Amino acid sequence: MTIEAIPEKCLWNEIDVPDISHVVESGDCDEFDVLIIGAGYTGLWTAFYLHLNDPSLRIAIIEKNTVGFGASGRNGGWCSTIMPMSLDSIAHRYGREQAIALQNAMFATLDEIKYRTTALGIDCDFTQGGSIQVLRSVNQVERAASRIRNLRESGYGEDFYQLLDREESLNLVKMSKTCGGFLDVHSAVLHPKKLCLGLATAVRSQGTAIIENSPVLSYTPGQVQTRQHTYKAKVVLRTTEAFSSSFSQAQRSVIPLYSMMVATEPLSTAIRSEIGLDSRQSFNDGRNMVIYGQRTADNRLAFGGRGAPYHFGSKILPSFDFNQKVAQGLRSTLIELFPVLERTEFTHHWGGPLAAPRDWTFNISYDPLSGLGSAGGYVGDGVATSNLAGRTLADLVCERSTELTRLSCVNHFSKKWEIEPLRFVAVNSLTKMAMLADWKEDKTGRPASIINGIIDKISDA
Ligand SMILES: Cc1cc2nc3c(=O)[nH]c(=O)nc-3n(C[C@H](O)[C@H](O)[C@H](O)COP(=O)(O)OP(=O)(O)OC[C@H]3O[C@@H](n4cnc5c(N)ncnc54)[C@H](O)[C@@H]3O)c2cc1C
Repeated sequence: MTIEAIPEKCLWNEIDVPDISHVVESGDCDEFDVLIIGAGYTGLWTAFYLHLNDPSLRIAIIEKNTVGFGASGRNGGWCSTIMPMSLDSIAHRYGREQAIALQNAMFATLDEIKYRTTALGIDCDFTQGGSIQVLRSVNQVERAASRIRNLRESGYGEDFYQLLDREESLNLVKMSKTCGGFLDVHSAVLHPKKLCLGLATAVRSQGTAIIENSPVLSYTPGQVQTRQHTYKAKVVLRTTEAFSSSFSQAQRSVIPLYSMMVATEPLSTAIRSEIGLDSRQSFNDGRNMVIYGQRTADNRLAFGGRGAPYHFGSKILPSFDFNQKVAQGLRSTLIELFPVLERTEFTHHWGGPLAAPRDWTFNISYDPLSGLGSAGGYVGDGVATSNLAGRTLADLVCERSTELTRLSCVNHFSKKWEIEPLRFVAVNSLTKMAMLADWKEDKTGRPASIINGIIDKISDA
């Protein structure tokens, strides 16, 4: 049987886009107080909070493409309390108190995003229905039980995380092979592109200039160079995430990993009732390979996962944004989770690069002497984290000493990635090992502890 290709287009772009030109400024003013490179969530939130901290600041965001061109306009819409690194890894380096402070800051971030989007009138389909990881094997139940024990020891009770039995889990989402569930109570979902455009409109109305279609070629203290202009500012902030390695200041600090997505047609009421997700919980299962899904406000399932190859030399090309093999894999996985989707049409496929630092730990840094700063390295967890980073970066620039500026992610430095071809071999092996671990657990019913141990070793600081 020939399987039809899934149309290559991003679901999130199918909205009534407000005339973007109203957020485009000509480059006639070349001098600012703060220049931000990159108009994704991090750049936009940073500009927003800088203005709140000091309305007199003249701020400009310079974007090589258009607002939300990067991962911010293409992601899975999990606005979650999850961080890319584990609490244990933060505790190992900075102590348990710091780990808990950072996790608490993530919980507060969800409240902050809800508050700001509501106050700014940004209708981005934000729904805080929690996030459910369905546990579909004994191994997955055991891993979740151990995780919940750790969380309880760190002081997080039932009002934060819940271990569900089979029936409780099925009441929320009717996934095949359900043995139980792990519920993260505070997480939310949203429409990624609507958030980007709403934020862009908000910062524009604060007076921030957004200069689109202007790739930054290089930057130094006090100066940003595009092909057409030299812009000057006391403060220069880089928020370019997966694209960062093109700058000499950030070479080998992160690598671009591709995440891919598919979306279904809008589901009928009958199919929806066979699936559940009534509160629009984001969902995945407890496998080792990363997968993520949400029911959109117009009742489709948008579903994504890793598994696309890392490209030699950290290359980023438009052609890498689509991968029919991975898309078909995602389609089969979603049907495996929800067999009722067997005849459902898959209408969209897209993807994009995210940024992975060597120790999977995001970073917010600012040097008051040079006026240079940056934020990013969220791996696949940047939707909420970028708000925390933007608020923190704004406080650092305004020399405010706050709870945020004392978090361990501030001026945290990850070691650099290996040079090629080592990087290519190691990163692609990690992906293959995650797949192998899932295959082994599926076949034998036993935990793939040795493989997971190797994965942890390679991806560890
Ligand atoms: C397919 C996919 C699914 C994802 N799903 C989720 C999810 O469900 N939940 C979650 O939390 N995270 C998810 N992520 C990650 C999340 O989207 C990102 O971490 C987050 O959007 C990063 O925001 P950012 O503003 O830092 O970077 P970006 O959104 O990547 O923005 C960087 C901007 O910088 C611009 N830029 C780059 N180079 C230059 C230059 N030289 N000059 C000027 N501008 C430049 C780019 O054009 C881009 O607009 C996903 C990512 C992908 C790719």
